[in-house]
Amino acid sequence: MAPIRDRLLLIENISALVGSTGADLRETLDAIVTAVAEGMETEVCSLYLFDPTREQLVLRATVGLDRDSVGKVTMRVSEGLVGLAIETMQPVAVADAAAHPRYKYFPETGEERYHAFLGVPMVDGKREPIGVLVAQTLRRRKFTVTDIRLLKTAASQLAQALSHFRLRETLATKEKERDEYRRRMIEATRQLKDYEKVGGKTRLAPPVKIRRPRLVGLPASPGFSLGAAHPVGTFISTIDRNLRARDRNVELKRLEEALERSRTELDTLKKRMAPLMPEADLKIFDAHRQILEDEEFVRRIRETIGAGYAAESALFRVIDELSASMLALADGYLRERAVDFRDIGHRLLRHLRQDEHGAFSRPTVLVAEELTLSQLTLVSHENLVGIALQSGGVTSHAAILARSFEIPTVVGVEHLMESVSEGDRLVVDGNSGIIYVKPSPEVEHEYERLIRQYNAFRRELMANPEPTTVMRDGHRVRLLANIALYNDIQLALRYGAEGIGLFRSEFSFLTYEDFPDENQQIALYSRVLEAVEGRPVTIRTLDIGADKYPLYLRVPREDNPFMGWRSIRISLEMAGLFKVQLRAILRAAAKHNVRVMFPMISSIDELMRARELLAEAQAELFREGLEHDPDIKVGIMVEVPAAVWLAPRLINEVDFFSIGTNDLIQFMLAADRNNPKVAQVYEPLHPAVLAAIAEVVKVAQAEGKEVSLCGEMASDALATLVLTGMGLDQLSLSPFFIPVVRKILRETDHQTARRMARTVLEMSTVKQIKGYLFEQYRKLGLLNIVEMYR
Ligand code: PEP
Ligand code: MG
Repeated sequence: MAPIRDRLLLIENISALVGSTGADLRETLDAIVTAVAEGMETEVCSLYLFDPTREQLVLRATVGLDRDSVGKVTMRVSEGLVGLAIETMQPVAVADAAAHPRYKYFPETGEERYHAFLGVPMVDGKREPIGVLVAQTLRRRKFTVTDIRLLKTAASQLAQALSHFRLRETLATKEKERDEYRRRMIEATRQLKDYEKVGGKTRLAPPVKIRRPRLVGLPASPGFSLGAAHPVGTFISTIDRNLRARDRNVELKRLEEALERSRTELDTLKKRMAPLMPEADLKIFDAHRQILEDEEFVRRIRETIGAGYAAESALFRVIDELSASMLALADGYLRERAVDFRDIGHRLLRHLRQDEHGAFSRPTVLVAEELTLSQLTLVSHENLVGIALQSGGVTSHAAILARSFEIPTVVGVEHLMESVSEGDRLVVDGNSGIIYVKPSPEVEHEYERLIRQYNAFRRELMANPEPTTVMRDGHRVRLLANIALYNDIQLALRYGAEGIGLFRSEFSFLTYEDFPDENQQIALYSRVLEAVEGRPVTIRTLDIGADKYPLYLRVPREDNPFMGWRSIRISLEMAGLFKVQLRAILRAAAKHNVRVMFPMISSIDELMRARELLAEAQAELFREGLEHDPDIKVGIMVEVPAAVWLAPRLINEVDFFSIGTNDLIQFMLAADRNNPKVAQVYEPLHPAVLAAIAEVVKVAQAEGKEVSLCGEMASDALATLVLTGMGLDQLSLSPFFIPVVRKILRETDHQTARRMARTVLEMSTVKQIKGYLFEQYRKLGLLNIVEMYR
């Protein structure tokens, strides 16, 4: 089958390439393991060389494991699965390595994340062992005979290359030759790149198309899916503009019906989207409706049908003309409106084809550079199983909507558009942020299995949603939900949230055209409070700025918006507007269970000023005789490192702390939370982060005050036991993750969690911490759950 041949050819090609050049062994081995991992579609490929005098194996090259462990990790033949391959001189294929009795864990490699293991022994011309070539994958994967054969082929090529290298190394070490080698390697790499570009026209290249089987982005909405790619926007160009009408009257009637159905659909959509979308964005539906009613627009399509074209062709002839004239305009805003005409074209086309709901006929993954809200609403969600976007962040509107609709989504996927064509099979891994393009049958099977297992697990979790979370030894932990928009409450309740631990009020503010006044805000908060039916709600005052600006707040561009004019800094500077929010919260709290929380507090002065304004608002309401909560509980987000240092003083001024790890981590580790390039540095399980959390919890508890954690870290099942073990009895998290975190807690006792927390707090590196946690979760039988969600 083609993909397998492709992979084989690729490995052969690279192997031949290095065989024909030679010299810097390490660089070449790196190139080989990278090529093998790509060819095998595995996350890891490593080469262990056998040292016969010491009877041990040494890690010599790897892609996927920690490169720092190269040369350091050694094992005896009697140790681990790698040793087993040499001991038996047979391939070792294991779907779940950690469960194998011969599994040996080497913390320095960071391999705990990998499940499946395939190792094949390498032999020299005399059939003496020279090493083991290993492939590992994140997901469980049953390696097939073809996989084993493929890795064996690569191993034998590699063995030849190694003999070749060894020979060369002993014969030629002179500097001149090294330079010559480098030049040739560079030339070879260039040729390899050319080959990628032209798809096999160079001498070296076999006639196969290099594709990118695995693309990496940011996980934006959890879950897994498998479906056919549908790149948005490509399909419009495939409409034949010259299709002639058989019967003009029939075509005219089809057009009228499509217009009517499109109008009705827009009205319905607007209603459905109202709770989810900013008011300003909702106008798009009115704008599209107006175009559908525009006499000139409709007349031109009718006339084109009159000139003998079928309705589809007539429609797109007119759309092409209109969007071309828009694109010719100088005004940037109007130019961008060309996209509206194309959206309308798609909508009408669907209805012309009687595709009432825009439903896909097969499970489909929407692929786009960027997805506008109207594009997302163009399609029905029936059979829409996944979304992959080249641009966009996890907090983009499309991502927020995707989460609300529970559609697995990956955003920020580099090279997406150039790698995917209409109809390509795609795997969307919304948990780890990976897209597989035209996956091999093995990868596809693995995901089919995972989807089945994951769905069954979700069903089991949801079958009896427990209203409370009690650990095995009776210790109680409260799980609350983080919400942004009103609609999230439905999800929160569905997943069994005990209340709302973080209501990010700014998201609702983004949906207004201007700052909502006091009454509008009271209505907004009351609507949320009524929906949660008496459960507690912590309303966080505006955290605008950084990446969340309402249209009506003109803020000049800043170089470092996350460290700029944002959050409580804006509120304190615009005290009048802040007081309106405080009054509205206080008034809504009169009849409900509400707490107020200030974000981004970095000094005692800020907190005292915010408290002063709150007291003023209370005094005003009292004077005005307006019903409000005079004793509202007040807390702060601990999300700036200064607040950690000041915690012993800040705690005296508040009723509770809520640790905001999303910001705290980025500031402590100096790693932008939204920048995929530093995603490796942004590490919640960093020892400094854990120490800071432990300290804040200790300070709050010493004063008998409540403390919770509301950053994304609270959704990470691997962190759950450490956090509760540190004494956090309240976590506020994305609703979707509540059932799994609840399950982890219910299956463990608090004593175990406390022991785990004590142990990790003694550790110095992320690798040690993660390694230890993976091991502990494995022993507790919870590792498979963690894996499903990471
Ligand atoms: C945080 O910083 O952890 C947090 C919960 O706030 P946000 O993600 O809204 O900045
Ligand atoms: Mg924050």
